[in-house]
Amino acid sequence: MNKQYQWATEDIFTTDAEWNKTLEEIDKKIDFSEFKGKLNKAENYLALQKKIESIGSVIEKLSVYAMMKHDEDTTNSLYDSFNSKIYGIYAKFSSSLAFVQPELISLDQEVLKSYINNTSLSEYDYSLKCLLKEKAHVLSADQEALLAAGGEVFSSFRDIFTKIDNADLPLGKIKVDNKTVQLTHGTYSMLLQNTDVKVRQKAFKKYYKAYISLINVISSTYYASVKKNVYLAKARKYPSAMASALAGEDVPEIVYKNLLTNVKKALPDLHAYMGEKKKALGLDKMHMYDIYVPTVEGVDLKLEYDDAYSLVVEGLACLGSEYQQLLLKAKEDRWIDVYERSGKRSGAYSVAVYNIHPYVLLNYQKTTHDVFTIAHEMGHSLHSYFSNKNQPYAKADYTIFVAEVASTVNEVLLIKHLLKTAKDDKLKKYLLSYLLEMIRTTLFRQTQFSEFEDYAHKQVEKGVPLTKDSLCKAYLKLNKKYYGKNIVHDKEIKYEWARIPHFYRAFYVYKYATGIISALSIARRILEEGQTAVDDYFKFLSSGGSDSPVELLKIAGVDLTQEKPYQDAFAEFKSALEAFVKL
Ligand SMILES: [Zn+2]
Repeated sequence: MNKQYQWATEDIFTTDAEWNKTLEEIDKKIDFSEFKGKLNKAENYLALQKKIESIGSVIEKLSVYAMMKHDEDTTNSLYDSFNSKIYGIYAKFSSSLAFVQPELISLDQEVLKSYINNTSLSEYDYSLKCLLKEKAHVLSADQEALLAAGGEVFSSFRDIFTKIDNADLPLGKIKVDNKTVQLTHGTYSMLLQNTDVKVRQKAFKKYYKAYISLINVISSTYYASVKKNVYLAKARKYPSAMASALAGEDVPEIVYKNLLTNVKKALPDLHAYMGEKKKALGLDKMHMYDIYVPTVEGVDLKLEYDDAYSLVVEGLACLGSEYQQLLLKAKEDRWIDVYERSGKRSGAYSVAVYNIHPYVLLNYQKTTHDVFTIAHEMGHSLHSYFSNKNQPYAKADYTIFVAEVASTVNEVLLIKHLLKTAKDDKLKKYLLSYLLEMIRTTLFRQTQFSEFEDYAHKQVEKGVPLTKDSLCKAYLKLNKKYYGKNIVHDKEIKYEWARIPHFYRAFYVYKYATGIISALSIARRILEEGQTAVDDYFKFLSSGGSDSPVELLKIAGVDLTQEKPYQDAFAEFKSALEAFVKL
């Protein structure tokens, strides 16, 4: 295998022996007891942070190296042992720091404020501000102890659902082309893309039958989970479960409300898209099990990796030459592990090491989708690159709320570039439907889920119990609202809520929707305004986790508390739909 296409793990550690030696050394240093009870002095707090940083950054290197080595060949048990050693180190690190958060939060408000205004602590001002906000929701020591003791009970609903979903669900087998196929979550999503409508229908009916057979226990589990969220929010004096969840990522509630109201306005366009998709698929009636079938097939660009990479660099020219040079450097300096090998982990991801550089795992296969994957993962990587370069360690990591923005901006810009240059109508149609499906599944579908969660929690907050009937009724109503009259709302679809694992992590999925909205708005601005928009976007990419994610997005011109980004996103959807119809 040509080394040029394998990532340079030696940039982190030259040998496994060096890794082992570093691990042993760092293990001895993990002890923060000298700071216990002393955080009421600014200089002690600063010294603690510096020590956390010096040890934490080494653990990060150890951990990323172990993960990457393991992913190169998952059958190599040596790196399993590296990973278990790292778990041990992490556990020791976090338990030795367990006193920090409670001690800081119990400091007098005035002390915390003086830390925030202390210039020698400016690297920690944002996390201190968050701590100060959280302080209002911290209870007395014995109340906190009671809540902490209940932690395992509170997290059990997600575990119960996981057990139901992965172990008890009687999915069974179905016949496809005279072969018996075991239905799993994975095969189900493949079967829904099958071009034979009978296969899709059979898979759909069988899959839902399994959930329906367990609907009483799933309804009770979900109801319990929502009650738990409402209880914990009340206990911590938050006005609602939503407020409590969003406070965790420092996002104002207006963003969630704005999302729901603005998506509602765009639903007629989603209905129209469903009508066009029905036509494109040549169906008289389109059922819920038809909507995942691709409208265009067989348009793989079949590019060799080097050509695919050049295409990505060319497609992102609007981001300027610095961005393009970095992309070339990433390829040249072996940040990327390109090809599939026996034992290599499947899929794709990006991971970054502070003070070194980001890495990307690919399994490049010459499909058109694989070209988008390069653009996507390099978006993550260069976001990390700029944030790590411009932010201190404590502020470098960006949050989940903005994590998919840069990756999606790259995909959208590449699609737009290819649409401009494509000569073949079939390819154009593929690109447009790729964009339309991305917006349907990431923006509309996740907002539908967000609206459902909002409903469920509000009911419980009003004291209204959730039953299988009320949950199904509410879900069906939402499904009709979102997909409209161009779709047959099969009787099974009202149970769809029952199969969504993310619902056990309440108020999480809305971030997928706000992420793609932000990305569509940024890409539009870059293509319309050019350099000033690019400059602002680079400032955003360089901002890491230095402030509330909603504030950071404003730097790139996206204010999610206003209507504009939503209007931008839906304008993109509408124009893609119009172009799709023309073809
Ligand atoms: Zn991603």
